[in-house]
Amino acid sequence: MTSPSYDYDLFVIGAGSGGVRAARIAAGHGARVAVAEDYRVGGTCVIRGCVPKKLLVYAAHYGEEIEDAAAFGWTVPGKASFDWARLIAAKDKEIERLSGLYVKGLDGAGAALLRGRARLIDAHTLDVGGRRVTAATILVATGGTPEVPAIPGAEHAITSNEAFHLPAQPKRVVVVGAGYIAVEFAGIFHGLGSTTTIVHRGPRLLRGFDDDVADRLQDEYRDKGIALHLNASPTAIDKGPDGLTLHLSDGSAIETDAVMFATGRRPNTQDLGLEAAGVETGPKGEIKVDLYSRTNVPNIYAVGDVTDRVALTPVAIKEGHAFADTLFGNRPALADHHDVPTAVFSQPPIGTVGLTEAQAVARFGTVDIYEAGFRPMKHALTGRNTRTYMKLIVEPRSDRVVGAHLIGDDTPEIIQVVGIAVKLGATKAQFDRTVAVHPTAAEELVLMR
Ligand code: FAD
Ligand code: NDP
Repeated sequence: MTSPSYDYDLFVIGAGSGGVRAARIAAGHGARVAVAEDYRVGGTCVIRGCVPKKLLVYAAHYGEEIEDAAAFGWTVPGKASFDWARLIAAKDKEIERLSGLYVKGLDGAGAALLRGRARLIDAHTLDVGGRRVTAATILVATGGTPEVPAIPGAEHAITSNEAFHLPAQPKRVVVVGAGYIAVEFAGIFHGLGSTTTIVHRGPRLLRGFDDDVADRLQDEYRDKGIALHLNASPTAIDKGPDGLTLHLSDGSAIETDAVMFATGRRPNTQDLGLEAAGVETGPKGEIKVDLYSRTNVPNIYAVGDVTDRVALTPVAIKEGHAFADTLFGNRPALADHHDVPTAVFSQPPIGTVGLTEAQAVARFGTVDIYEAGFRPMKHALTGRNTRTYMKLIVEPRSDRVVGAHLIGDDTPEIIQVVGIAVKLGATKAQFDRTVAVHPTAAEELVLMR
């Protein structure tokens, strides 16, 4: 679909996971494409999300692994020490390399990259850093931004954005929130040696996840020495000569060096000119779209976190890909938001796909539950008090496995493959017919009776 009366056939706002994929695929289908980016090419996932987070998670594991080595006969000379600045420099170098690959990828596909902030003037015209461009189709892929509670002293706190660039490791840190980012960063800071507290307004971590898995993470964190301050919200932050004081709604206060808000993210739709173009947004500022990522304005589309559907990189990528195939490849495609497998890189990590037990009961009435809990073989020698837990939820009439929830080492790797089985509609009997791989943790999934 080429439209010579416009500068471009497709203009993408945002060079993150969804935008870059859409731009490359559309350009591959022959469209004249440009992408605007006002920060760094690669978006949240590459620059200040999944990738640097996972590198920090790897780093956080070494403390325990060095200790564990002794149980396997190794003598580690001296006391191991950790250098935050060295880790951040190594991480920054890798992120720079990956961002460069994304730039090359766009260039190789023939998509133009325009550095600067893009704003809609009308449904076909944009301002990009003072330059006017027109496009037949516009894709908004501007992602999201950390949401911070409006309390006095909130300016003294950090979010995940700043956590990746702290000049020094805080000796004491309070993480506010109990979602993905909160539990991942609490695990990172604790693993690297910071005294870590989670403050959460609710009674348990990871609301929306299966309760048994969330409860086990809670126990593991308490056991490790991460303090959990539940049922309390922050009310104010004071800055003093020796650090910060975080005041809480239950009347208590915590002295700390850093407060990190991990209290959710909001779609990046402010000052985007959406009103000028007539694009409808929802209560959180998210762009409303249909299954084909179409907004209410016929030539404007939106994918990824800005639509507040499933805020995960592979989902943004699938949405961007489906959009480009549908519009420019003459191959109508839908991004599928069902049975999306996902992992939380806590310590231990979590892998989950499908319905939680509570969701399955609400949908089917009764369900069959299969569980396995065990100490991983490695820790028989280390003596570490950590356990792996796996749960399968089965719909009894069809015998289909409708949910799998795992916590323990390697579960993010395992859940990817379980996700295929669940997507294919595998039954419990088919799990049982599969021969175990021994000795692994994953074998428990085919041995539950
Ligand atoms: P983004 O990747 O956020 O890209 C949007 C881009 O648009 C940005 O580069 C931004 O600078 C640019 N932009 C915004 N406004 C404008 C404008 N007006 N003009 C020009 N450019 C603009 N997901 C996972 O699947 N696995 C994980 O392990 C994981 N870890 C995460 C860890 C953290 C700390 C965070 C914050 C997120 C994590 N996510 C993870 C979520 C994942 O990063 C997002 O779902 C994904 O990046 C969304 O992609 P997107 O294309 O919608 O937006
Ligand atoms: P989440 O929505 O997952 O969690 C937000 C947390 O903050 C919840 O515990 C919520 O409590 C709490 N909260 C919200 N508002 C307030 C407030 N005003 N005061 C106190 N607490 C508050 O958001 P995240 O920021 O952790 O992550 C955003 C999204 O990014 C995730 O949902 C996920 O889709 C994606 N992501 C994915 C990762 C992965 O794949 N591994 C890693 C990181 C992010 P309550 O439960 O009571 O609402």
